Amino acid sequence: MLNFRAMRNFVVLGGGTAGWFAALELQRLFGTQASITVIESPRINVIGVGEGGILNLPGALARYGIEEAAFIEATGAVLKLGFEYAGWNNGREDDVFYHLFHAAPNAADGSLVDGVPVDWAMLVANGVGVQYAESALPLIRNNASQTETLGVRAALGARLPTSMHFDAHRVAAYLKRVATGRGVRLLEATVRDLHVAADSGHVTALRIEDSEQPVPVDFLIDASGFARLTLGRRFQVPMRSFGEYLLHDRAIPFYLPHPRANPHLVTRAVAMNAGWMWQIPVQERVGCGYVYSSAHLSDDAALQEIEARVGKVEPVRTIRFEAGHFDDVWIGNVMAVGLASGFIEPLEATSIGQMLGQVLTFGELVAGSAYIVPQTSVAMFNERNRVDWMGIRDFLRMHYDVPRRDTAFWRDVNALKLPDTYATLKACWQHRLPRSADLQPYRQGNFMHFEATSWISVGQGTGVIAPQAAAADLARLPRESVVKSHQFLVGVKSRFAL
Ligand SMILES: Cc1cc2nc3c(=O)[nH]c(=O)nc-3n(C[C@H](O)[C@H](O)[C@H](O)COP(=O)(O)OP(=O)(O)OC[C@H]3O[C@@H](n4cnc5c(N)ncnc54)[C@H](O)[C@@H]3O)c2cc1C
Repeated sequence: MLNFRAMRNFVVLGGGTAGWFAALELQRLFGTQASITVIESPRINVIGVGEGGILNLPGALARYGIEEAAFIEATGAVLKLGFEYAGWNNGREDDVFYHLFHAAPNAADGSLVDGVPVDWAMLVANGVGVQYAESALPLIRNNASQTETLGVRAALGARLPTSMHFDAHRVAAYLKRVATGRGVRLLEATVRDLHVAADSGHVTALRIEDSEQPVPVDFLIDASGFARLTLGRRFQVPMRSFGEYLLHDRAIPFYLPHPRANPHLVTRAVAMNAGWMWQIPVQERVGCGYVYSSAHLSDDAALQEIEARVGKVEPVRTIRFEAGHFDDVWIGNVMAVGLASGFIEPLEATSIGQMLGQVLTFGELVAGSAYIVPQTSVAMFNERNRVDWMGIRDFLRMHYDVPRRDTAFWRDVNALKLPDTYATLKACWQHRLPRSADLQPYRQGNFMHFEATSWISVGQGTGVIAPQAAAADLARLPRESVVKSHQFLVGVKSRFAL
């Protein structure tokens, strides 16, 4: 049992985006009744390569009382409407598909009938991209300005869901100002070691470099990034590797100027010889990076390929990673968040979204337990974290389930075995579209990364979901729903001259 009512010293180890969001959650939970300290090393920089959020970012800002406009102003963030995938099927000019943010279809307004998103099913059955159902598409194609996009969003409300592109350096700096303004203490120091009580196994203090004064700990959130000071270095918790399903383990970030008048409204993921390149705009530039498999490409060859494609660049550095996460992320009185708990390639921008889901689940669990948390709830928390990772892994694996075979990487990634959970779902999706019920095993409490419509977007784009699956669903629906969705299809075709 953890008695949070009796705790006074909350410490967050790490002042990146994860650390400061975690501090805001602690501040929300404990207010001024406890001491909340964030320790960040002046020697170890935070990660910040040009990041994209997912749809839980606006909700998180609201939860911590941060206005979107203030966030944008302070961080140079820009609006994001989803993802664009270029070259994943065959590498030709017109090889593009989208995974756009979209309002969840629902039974009340008739957009979901017997679990089938009818208009989307009609598009899929007729070989029309599901992006044509979304108001975001014209804005993306016309390279709409931020002001114009905000105007359309004001008119459409929830029918134009948005997240943001940003630079995590600036986000961490801004959240630091917000949190310290609310009483969170900042300690600029490098943690040398943890003191662990022999009887309980709990961390009781942190030892700091060049200081005799230990920092007392009742509860520790480890947000130390890739340093992974607690679970990795001290406790040596086993990592659950995704290496047998996903090949990427390197990234070279760099920057480019905006290619068009306004920042792109989507994260672009451009297929390359041994992986893909992210292009994430912020106000002043585009953060880019090549994510690749070191088994297929050397670092020098990766840089050459980048420059052959976009011209001379100044690489920031080469980042090495192993896709996977710690089996348990909450052990005793330590919980790891963000990169300290795991990482997978940034396809679909899951890292910060995953961290926010984790922090939210933690907050709801502590408050929902009236601040006295049984060990069984900690075990449930860890299990939910594992299934969330499993969902991310499977969704990302679907992106590589494409016909492209022109390089050794694309041949090898296709030949990798599928996770059993994804293989099972894929078999069902030969007969019908994904359903929300299929994805419940991936749910982390109140948070689920990717709803059925996200899987349909990517499944249609990669060819995993064929028109016949949607046609089979439509054949089982009431006639009036099908007629209505056919009218929708006719409207789309005429509007976009398809
Ligand atoms: C190539 C790449 C692309 C990415 N793209 C995306 C994306 O598109 N979308 C997305 O959501 N996420 C993305 N991410 C992940 C995202 O950048 C991180 O999840 C996010 O920035 C949070 O990082 P963090 O706070 O966990 O760690 P960091 O930012 O690394 O912060 C770690 C903190 O720990 C401190 N620290 C470390 N050791 C010590 C010590 N001994 N003593 C004291 N302090 C210490 C450091 O000083 C720092 O303050 C990407 C990551 C990479 C590598």
